[in-house]
Amino acid sequence: MMRLAYFAPTPREIPRLGVYRSGKVIDLVENYKYIYRSQPPHWFFDLGEYLENKYAHRIVEDLISIYEKKPSEEPDLVHDENKIIYYPITSSNQRVFCIALNYLSHVQETGRPKPSKPYIFMKPKTALIGHREPILIPKVSSAADHEIELGVVIGLRGKYITKKDAMEHIAGYTIFNDVSFRDWQMRSSEGLGLDWLHGKGMDKSTPVGPYLVSKEEIEDPYKLRLELRVNREIRQIGTTSEMLFSIEDIIEEISKGITLLPGDLIATGTPSGVGHSSKRYLRDGDIIEAEISGLGVLINTVRQER
Ligand code: MG
Repeated sequence: MMRLAYFAPTPREIPRLGVYRSGKVIDLVENYKYIYRSQPPHWFFDLGEYLENKYAHRIVEDLISIYEKKPSEEPDLVHDENKIIYYPITSSNQRVFCIALNYLSHVQETGRPKPSKPYIFMKPKTALIGHREPILIPKVSSAADHEIELGVVIGLRGKYITKKDAMEHIAGYTIFNDVSFRDWQMRSSEGLGLDWLHGKGMDKSTPVGPYLVSKEEIEDPYKLRLELRVNREIRQIGTTSEMLFSIEDIIEEISKGITLLPGDLIATGTPSGVGHSSKRYLRDGDIIEAEISGLGVLINTVRQER
């Protein structure tokens, strides 16, 4: 029923939650102040706390319905989507879990064996960036690559979640571009496996957004089309129906001994077409558009660190 953006009206202001409606973002903080004449609750500034608070959703729905009945002329209550600063869909205690090799077409292009169970790694939150923020290629890498993925955001905490209950723990979906540094990821590590830390976790490399689309808006998460373009050229196409391990499988696997928290983000794997298979890596100035049906288009330019 809702698309939540994490944004700031200007670079000087604190990031807060807003509701995206056809090219505009309704500022929940300013609407709350305007309608109730008091300071807004702190969970307007933190997605995890918003998702965990049982009254929050209702309060937001009330604010939106008041706003929509009588849109005010007050300039701060709503912003032009093109003028705001998007932040990644993130929260203070968020973890970022990613699954490797979850589409057969991608498994095949890597030449690796098909996995028999989900392989999960983590990305530091400091790697995340928002819609329209530049993807930073650090000066220590010359093999930056794209991976469009369906991002799942947890709404309800849980441990030892079974497949049957997994969907109840989801708040919604977003677009995730699991930007990877192949020269680091694949470098020789003396029998200790791939370098997932630097291979996936460089600062300000991983776009997520533009917004969190609540799960009620997505009729079937396994019928979503993924498409990634570099400078308008299509590089990756897939559908979520191709996943080897379902979202339910992944949630069950991660939550074994680890509590999933509201705001946690799970990247569910990428289809084929990554640059590594054709040795075409990202370059300064490239424009990356990652699009998933129903979730919008996540656009970022690439910037080489000097
Ligand atoms: Mg990936």
